[in-house]
Amino acid sequence: MRALRKLKRGEGEVELVSVPDPQPARGEVRVRVECAGICGTDIHILHDAYGNLQPPVTLGHEFAGVVAGVGPGVHGWSDGERVAVESLAGSCGRCRYCQAGETQCCPERRAFGISADGAFAEYVAVRATALHRLPEGASFQQAAMAEPLCVAVHAVLEKSSVQPEDTVLVTGPGTIGQLVAQVARLSGASVILAGTSTDRERLELATATGTEHAIFSDREDLPAAVGRITRGRGADVAFECAGVGAAVRSCLAAVRTGGQVVQVGLAGRPLEIDYDRICLKEITLCGSFTHNHRTWRKSVALLSDPRLKLDALVSGEFPLEQWRAVFDRCEQAQGLKYLLNPALR
Ligand SMILES: [Zn+2]
Ligand SMILES: [Zn+2]
Repeated sequence: MRALRKLKRGEGEVELVSVPDPQPARGEVRVRVECAGICGTDIHILHDAYGNLQPPVTLGHEFAGVVAGVGPGVHGWSDGERVAVESLAGSCGRCRYCQAGETQCCPERRAFGISADGAFAEYVAVRATALHRLPEGASFQQAAMAEPLCVAVHAVLEKSSVQPEDTVLVTGPGTIGQLVAQVARLSGASVILAGTSTDRERLELATATGTEHAIFSDREDLPAAVGRITRGRGADVAFECAGVGAAVRSCLAAVRTGGQVVQVGLAGRPLEIDYDRICLKEITLCGSFTHNHRTWRKSVALLSDPRLKLDALVSGEFPLEQWRAVFDRCEQAQGLKYLLNPALR
């Protein structure tokens, strides 16, 4: 089969190559990939800016498909079932986090497309326990967005204290920021989404899908804008989804006294922040990293919720052969979520 693989560490070293079809081992199921999302992590991997990588490895960690082969010892799954697949390839199963179902904190966690062969290929072999049946009416495109949706669901529903009637600030209008905004609105909050002038289309997309306020943080002072919208109160909860120092500082300044800041984005380096604000305003600062099995159950159920506007975030679906052109578009921040479909030629 064809597979888009990172062959070794270093700049580039990503190629579409021919590899044997994977065979499902004990406890595994083989999935025929119908749709797989490209994300910022894949771009970082292309440029060798992702630490945990274990090449040679097939990329692709956001995916959906059809069961096409069941390994020994697997019960309850049969060929042809439509599934979304957790991006967690495995964890130790013994540590305190695994025992509590918090696998995202396991020091031995492995992820498809990073430390185990992923889904930019015709087939992928996965642990059967990673499968989730798609709800009636959910498309493969929507299901391929279950992974970023899980990031948003974990941040909003599992880590934050968002209540109905809250005003929520979200910085960074990429896929994760858009989904955090949508899930916060599902929770009854109204949302202020902030980006820069280069994010014009993304901010327009957000307002078209229901976000109440969009702010250009390079044209307007963001904490002042949040103050204007909240009549001086400040945001109840801020989700930082940009991974940029200025955005982190704005979140700490724009959140109300006693409010919460949830860090979702990664900066990849140390940042300078006004740490005293956390003390002086009694801010609760909280990290939110990926997701776990519970998050997946909630998110897959949400895929068929008409209030979520997942289709609006999709910028196109392409064959594996066009991966380089599509990666280029991602890098130039054109569009939002690009999908690869190995069945297309
Ligand atoms: Zn991703
Ligand atoms: Zn563990």
